[in-house]
Amino acid sequence: MSRYPVLLVEDSRSLALFVRRKLEAALPVVVTWAQDYREAVAHLASGRDFTLGILDLTLPDAPQGQIVDLAATRGLPAIVFAGQFDERLREELWAKRVVDYVLKESPETIDLLVGLVRRLLRNREIKVLVVDDSRGARQELQELLAIHGYQVFTASSGQEALAVAAQEPDLRLVLADYAMPEPNGVELTRRLRARYSKDQLAIIGLSARADRHLSAMFLKNGANDFVHKPFLAEELYCRVSQNIELIEHIAAIQESSNRDFLTGLYNRRYLFELGENLLASALRGHITLTVAMLDIDFFKRINDTHGHDVGDMVLKHLAGILAKRFRATDVVSRYGGEEFCLLAVNMDRAAVPRVFAEVRDRIAASTLEAGGRTVKVTVSIGVSTVIGSSLEEMIRQADAMLYAAKAAGRDRVVVDEPEPADLGGPEATTSDRLMRREEAHGQNSRGG
Ligand code: GH3
Ligand code: MG
Ligand code: MG
Repeated sequence: MSRYPVLLVEDSRSLALFVRRKLEAALPVVVTWAQDYREAVAHLASGRDFTLGILDLTLPDAPQGQIVDLAATRGLPAIVFAGQFDERLREELWAKRVVDYVLKESPETIDLLVGLVRRLLRNREIKVLVVDDSRGARQELQELLAIHGYQVFTASSGQEALAVAAQEPDLRLVLADYAMPEPNGVELTRRLRARYSKDQLAIIGLSARADRHLSAMFLKNGANDFVHKPFLAEELYCRVSQNIELIEHIAAIQESSNRDFLTGLYNRRYLFELGENLLASALRGHITLTVAMLDIDFFKRINDTHGHDVGDMVLKHLAGILAKRFRATDVVSRYGGEEFCLLAVNMDRAAVPRVFAEVRDRIAASTLEAGGRTVKVTVSIGVSTVIGSSLEEMIRQADAMLYAAKAAGRDRVVVDEPEPADLGGPEATTSDRLMRREEAHGQNSRGG
């Protein structure tokens, strides 16, 4: 992974080295240290494109915070690192469009600094839309958000905002002004909220009107937050990052609820969620779907011989091999106990036996060192390539093949054979299944 270049300007050598070590250990950054203003000028003149500057306000050769002006003229987003602070200095700094400031108080402030840099790097992946019919207001917000690293989109009307949202499905935040030609900000919020949940998209309303009703109208129509204009940059930044962080927390919770705790693979619940969608695509003929069940041979013996902890290590080891072998579009899941279920998308039918034989070989050839001992396992794999009318049906079929593999002596792969009818007319039989599925699901599959 490439590392982001950060310029740290700080005259205290011990503090600089401490900050550099903390940042480089925690984040994908490489820190260049400048001891004074002169060195900072030299680094900036070298043509290196720094992502961020962390700047000490009082340097021996620039005691009045001139370093902040230097950064501003170079367009370098700046975190100010200051020994002390007062109201006047604070206003001055915000007027100079700094990212934020951190006080050099205690070791904990270094953690704050690390957290802030982490936030800024993450912001680079986050899409934010500013909606305002006033060009000046739009630019103001765009500039402020760009300093914090966000990918900023702008729209000059509610209609345009809806179009941008449709084009950017991973939009995370909309900042909407109230006073615009139809639809106004509240109406825009209502329409966006009809389509995007609060888990997906945060909306912050903005207005310069004295009317205190407006914030309630925004919130009741689905906004997450509201900011009065004129606002302080500091307040805006806090509200924006809090709302983004809330979405990130929810996404993290959802992600962990889809995963098996031990192996980190998808769990059975999420397998069915993803699998039903893939099967629907397969039934429409958009993709082909192969389902495989994989079960460790004599796994009980591993637990009995080496203990449950080693058993767990074996499960993680296999999970690693499987996750690495299959494509990102495939689904690798822990079905339960020592059973894994794999859904392979668009796997060439002719290649299926070879691919799973390779998986079997790779597992049989691999070894795990645990507690001074070498552990080896084999697996049996059952594969179904015939599209069924439900995922359950395909899993049942793969399970039958797995049972056959076990019965035939384990450590092997058994793939089902398509029925003769399938060889002749795959389209006809697929649409048959689609009809059966629609009948089984009744209105639900269409109403969705
Ligand atoms: P076969 O070749 O027929 O599959 O034999 P087996 O011993 O693998 O199958 P069996 O179903 O008899 O035993 C499965 C074992 O998997 C029993 C159980 O203790 C173990 N197991 C299930 N989940 C876990 C787990 O999370 N961790 C560990 N260590 N063992 C587990
Ligand atoms: Mg087993
Ligand atoms: Mg089993």
